[in-house]
Order: sequence, then C-alpha cells, then structure tokens
Amino acid sequence: MAEKKERKETMGVQGIWNVGAYRYKAPPLMEEYTQGLKEKKIIGSWCRGCAKVIVPPRNICGRCHRRMDERIVVSQRGTITSYIISTPMQKGKYKVLGMDPVDMGVVSENEIIIPAFVRFDGSDSNVQLLMIDTDPDTLYVGMRVKAVWAEERQGALSDLVGVTPLSKDEIST
Ligand SMILES: [Zn+2]
Repeated sequence: MAEKKERKETMGVQGIWNVGAYRYKAPPLMEEYTQGLKEKKIIGSWCRGCAKVIVPPRNICGRCHRRMDERIVVSQRGTITSYIISTPMQKGKYKVLGMDPVDMGVVSENEIIIPAFVRFDGSDSNVQLLMIDTDPDTLYVGMRVKAVWAEERQGALSDLVGVTPLSKDEIST
C-alpha cells in the first residue's frame, strides 16, 4: 500500500462554491407556472380540442395533440388521488440527490413525509405535492385538500409548499 503512505490525507481545494449564484433556467412554461405561484395562482393550460385542463401548463395536448395556448387559473382546492406514507426519516438511512435530508435539516429525525397526487378543482391532471400537517391515519383517496403557500414567495416551485386537509367548515362552503 505505497499510495497510502505517500498521501496521508485526501486532496483538498480551497474555494467557495456559491450555489446561490446559479439561477435555475426554467423553460418558459415552467416560468409561467412559477410566476403564477408567486401570486398564489395555480395555472393550467386549456385545450380547445378536448377541453381538458392540464396543470402545470403544457404546449401540446397529450390527448388530441393540439396546441394549448389558452391559460386558466384553477381552484386552490383539490382532491387526493393517491399518496405514499414514508417510514420515519432517520439520519444516515436515506440519500436524496446524494445528500442526507435529515442531516441537511430538510426533515427532522423520525419525521414522516407524505407525497400525494392532487387534482385541483377545474383541472384534469395530477400534481405531486407534500401533505402538510396531516395525520396519516386520517388520509384517504378522495380527501379534500387546499393549497399551502410559502410566506414569502419567490416565483419558484417551492412557493406551493404542499396541501393540507380542508376543515369540516371549509368542506361545507
Ligand atoms: Zn386536447
């Protein structure tokens, strides 16, 4: 093992990687969607051919292949069409994009995350979002939910934090 003797420690390079200096170049459609989110609007594209509404907006209808130039703002309320309940998140157990979400502070130790598919009222497609403040035991497909917004919105996908169940009072209104 001659190599190990030659180099006692791994090589290091001094410098700062300023991740914040990079701006994610979203394609125009996603830009349109995220600018809508900034104003608490969920934008979809409406098809003249088959009248389907797709969120986030698309250029071409996947159903009838027409151009989708029309835009529509859909409801902030929707219905859960499917969901997954994670096992409790533990440090050193999972890697997301090569990083440990517990270590990064994205989730706390033993936190359960619930990604769900949501069909917002007035749309015909599903958006994958996290359930916020939701007791996993109360969840069901068909549950009515509403959008949860970031306090300070920046025109990013993260402006729409997730969805949370409607209260009984909200369901009846
Ligand atoms: Zn269509």
